[in-house]
Amino acid sequence: MSCTQCFQPEIECATQEQIRAWQDERLCKTVRHVYANVPYYRNLMDRKGVTPDDIRAVSDLRKLPFLTKDDLRAAYPYGLLAMPRSECVRIQSTSGTTGKRVVAFYTQHDIDLWEECCARAIMAAGGTKDDVVQVCYGYGLFTGGPGLNGGSHKVGSLTLPMSSGNTERQIQFLCDLEATILCCTPSYALYLAETIVEKGLVDRIKLKAGIFGAEAWSEEMRHDIENKLRIKAYDIYGLTEISGPGVAFECREQSGMHINEDHFIVEIINPETGEVLPDGEKGELVFTSITKEAFPLLRYRTRDICVLSRKKCSCGRTHVKMSKPMGRSDDMMIIKGVNVFPSQIETVLINKGYPANYQIIVDRVKNSDTLEIQVEMTSEMFSDNLGAVAAKEKELVNALKSMLGIYAKVNLVAPKSIVRSEGKAVRVIDNRKLY
Ligand SMILES: [Zn+2]
Repeated sequence: MSCTQCFQPEIECATQEQIRAWQDERLCKTVRHVYANVPYYRNLMDRKGVTPDDIRAVSDLRKLPFLTKDDLRAAYPYGLLAMPRSECVRIQSTSGTTGKRVVAFYTQHDIDLWEECCARAIMAAGGTKDDVVQVCYGYGLFTGGPGLNGGSHKVGSLTLPMSSGNTERQIQFLCDLEATILCCTPSYALYLAETIVEKGLVDRIKLKAGIFGAEAWSEEMRHDIENKLRIKAYDIYGLTEISGPGVAFECREQSGMHINEDHFIVEIINPETGEVLPDGEKGELVFTSITKEAFPLLRYRTRDICVLSRKKCSCGRTHVKMSKPMGRSDDMMIIKGVNVFPSQIETVLINKGYPANYQIIVDRVKNSDTLEIQVEMTSEMFSDNLGAVAAKEKELVNALKSMLGIYAKVNLVAPKSIVRSEGKAVRVIDNRKLY
């Protein structure tokens, strides 16, 4: 046990029985609160024939209806608010590019609990009151900046609210103010790392750890950031609907993220049927918030595909761990029995500096699935030297194997040679459907 690295050791290292007791009690209370104050969800429950009296323990959770992003849009803007507006102090919002944005509401109590979750993440990454935490997530409606900022205050660290962008100034402050913990997206961390290496400033920075989230990243990218900046890189998970970053976070074991189970009950379901799957099976992540006042969501379907693990963790924390999200349930493909997501492939390509112009071709040859990826090179990469192109293809094949766990044939093609379609790009061609 290493409770000195826990923000709330009595909670983070509580027994499974204690956690379950908290969950049972808080779930019942939240269901009553929602049923009494949110007509939208009360209607969903009435239609399913469930009343608050039917929910007495976590084992009754599956009787409740699911909520999806469509419900959040339908109830926009105040339809899922469970408290009077006069009791709320904050609104945050998703960066959704299509359709209505999702807005979430917080009472002061909700903000305090959210910031405590972020404080747990910072301490799990080795943060203490002696650290200088540089937060370069965006501030404003986006939850990244405000969440980690509040968490850093709770730990008592010296907090630098940098927000995103302005790389020159980020690096100057990293050097001058001797920041020890960096919080931003993994892609920005890598960009910062590369710029720091180029400028020959690696020896001038005092960073020891980074907390990186809000987008998909691979283990390879983690190693790249860790090697370039000579730090430990930790993952963090969250979503605006369920409060923001800090729903789950990595500890020193760096093998999955502990979910704050005293605040959130997690389920894994089959995305097609809604059936609840046992721990260890891959499926869609569903959260029920059990301590929120203003915007408690019951059985919210995240669309993120994950695996849960209850294996004992060497850090001493007892809360269940979730894997990195492997993709979105909407666009999952099953190839050679393995779940593959276009987003995983895109992450590898972007990490390796390729433009997002690619096509994924799935086929079945002699009863066996094949996966081929056509990728455009940039004009700088484009070369008549066939050996150089072959070496680049091999590098991508290895990176994809490490991300997906299966072999994908890679075909690098000339710039602008993949046909552009009007409207949404056609990324996946699945020829298996023709058989
Ligand atoms: Zn752990």
